[in-house]
Amino acid sequence: MEVSKNDIVKLLQSNDMSKTSARISLIFLLVQANSWLSLQDISKQMKQSRTTIYRALNILCEKAILKKLVDTDNKVFFHFNEQVHLSIPSTIEKKELVYFRCIYCDTINVLQHTHIDIKLPKGFIKTGTNFIISGYCANCSGKLQEHSHSQNTTYD
Ligand SMILES: [Zn+2]
Repeated sequence: MEVSKNDIVKLLQSNDMSKTSARISLIFLLVQANSWLSLQDISKQMKQSRTTIYRALNILCEKAILKKLVDTDNKVFFHFNEQVHLSIPSTIEKKELVYFRCIYCDTINVLQHTHIDIKLPKGFIKTGTNFIISGYCANCSGKLQEHSHSQNTTYD
């Protein structure tokens, strides 16, 4: 996605957020990456301190400008929320998406056509959800089967 720092400044302004260099660089980095980046990857590419980065990530997630995933092994990933239209005041729809993280090739995919329908009891207010399944993706599970197959044939 093409994005200018000016678009990012407008996005922060439309969300009543001050335009700190950490916030601008974070959004810029994640829009350019267009994939899930781990906290470690992000820290490596930023010149700010870890505390500054962490604070900026938290507020951007609260505003739903970024999406956050915590895998079952507690590894944290961030992605720019594609539902945010840059330079347009954000009206962000929050969908219950289910994510799948492959522990073999370390990719994260949204599981299409998989929905979770949760009805909260009266009076409960949801502020976030985190649905992530870890395992082997279609590409890698194939490799595993080939591998176990070749092992079997060795034993034959
Ligand atoms: Zn995989």
